[in-house]
Amino acid sequence: MNDFVFDPNTHESHIDHKIVFALERLSQLFRIQSWEANKQFQLSPLQMQIVTTLRFQPHLDSVTAVASYLQLTNATVSDAVRVLNQKQYVEKRPDPEDGRRHHLTLTVAGANIAEELSLFANQIGEFVSLLPNQAVFLESLLQLMQLLQENGFIPLQQMCTTCRHLVRPEGDGAAYYCQLLDKPLAARDLRVYCPEYETAV
Ligand code: SF4
Repeated sequence: MNDFVFDPNTHESHIDHKIVFALERLSQLFRIQSWEANKQFQLSPLQMQIVTTLRFQPHLDSVTAVASYLQLTNATVSDAVRVLNQKQYVEKRPDPEDGRRHHLTLTVAGANIAEELSLFANQIGEFVSLLPNQAVFLESLLQLMQLLQENGFIPLQQMCTTCRHLVRPEGDGAAYYCQLLDKPLAARDLRVYCPEYETAV
């Protein structure tokens, strides 16, 4: 008979089950926050993702760039951007060299909403900052994300653990090394998102 992760009776002999159970519980965090924010701002979860992306990664200033980052189709993002534009949270400016292209920027109201939406993550960060062994935790999370990406469970992430420039440590106590930045990376320096990332395959 299978041991099911969601059955707490299996946890005693399976630390892996406990970790997955905890991850599932934690995944509720952002879902609940998203529902609450939806009531407050009348924005869909995707519209919220778009305003926060434009606020904190303004170089992703086109429908194509945002769609690629969020792993969605251009049509899906374009629809959401149209609504955000109607609500006057996002402006679309034609590219001076190609009128068919538009650059996306947040209005002041859009930027304010993005910042309000992001306060929740900051609150969670305050609790995370209290944890011991944060570097080990980060490294383990990145290794898990690597396995999930390689096995098709999550889309491509621009993180160190799947980057062609990362050299893994050899021997106890050795550091990772980024060949592009030409510097060692301690576990705490590993990036979850890196603009210089290049896929290993
Ligand atoms: S380029 Fe960025 S993602 Fe790649 S190893 Fe260096 S720091 Fe990590």
